[in-house]
Parts: sequence; C-alpha cells; structure tokens
Amino acid sequence: MSHDLFEAARDAMGKAYAPYSKFPVGAAIRAEDGRVYVGANIENLSFPQGWCAEPSAISAMIMGGAHRIREIAVIAEKLPLCTPCGGCRQKISEFSSPDTRVYLCDDQGVQKTVTMAELLPYAFDTDVIG
Ligand SMILES: [Zn+2]
Repeated sequence: MSHDLFEAARDAMGKAYAPYSKFPVGAAIRAEDGRVYVGANIENLSFPQGWCAEPSAISAMIMGGAHRIREIAVIAEKLPLCTPCGGCRQKISEFSSPDTRVYLCDDQGVQKTVTMAELLPYAFDTDVIG
C-alpha cells in the first residue's frame, strides 16, 4: 500500500463526528479510477441513526463516479487493530472482490493487511442466487 492511503484515512479520522462514543474512525478507499475517497464515522443523538466511516467513504466514492474498491484502509484512534464491523464488511463486499486488500491501521501506519475473503468468508453473494 502506498503511504497516501494511510494518511488519507488518518486525516479523515480527524474529521469524525463522534461526540458520544469519543471513538473516531477513518476510512480511505482507492477506487478503480485510482482516486482516493475518504470517510469518517458520523454519530447522532439518536444513536442508531449514526453511521460508520466505511459507508461514508463508499458514499464519497459513488458520488465521485467510481464503483469498485481496489484497496481500503481503516483506522481508529483508540484501537491498534480496528476491523470493520459486520455491517461494513457487507457494505465493502458490495463494491470489492474477495482479493481486495483491507489495511487495518493505527496512528503509526498499517498494522495488518487482510483480504475481503478473510474478513468476510462465505459472503452473501448474488452468484449463489444465479
Ligand atoms: Zn461499521
């Protein structure tokens, strides 16, 4: 992974709106167009209405005109290894491939690299529907 994806995720984390959990998270996607799209978690006083960093980045990617995730970095300030939650794994899966790399970061850099197949084995996939 190039350093810029980690930097972009860390910068995005700095823009998180997390006054309730105080658990800022950032995500950065490099799409198939080579551009980087970022997102952060955005909480709400009505807690279930908040959302994670990954769908924020996916939304930015879609609005930017891209539809495929080449690689994605996720960072949380308070965790050495912040893995995407279950819902986000499904959301990332929609726009990625089993071999898409997911970089789990802390504030120093990438701590672990996994693939989507490792992160979401037996993913719900329309291929099984036919
Ligand atoms: Zn999530």
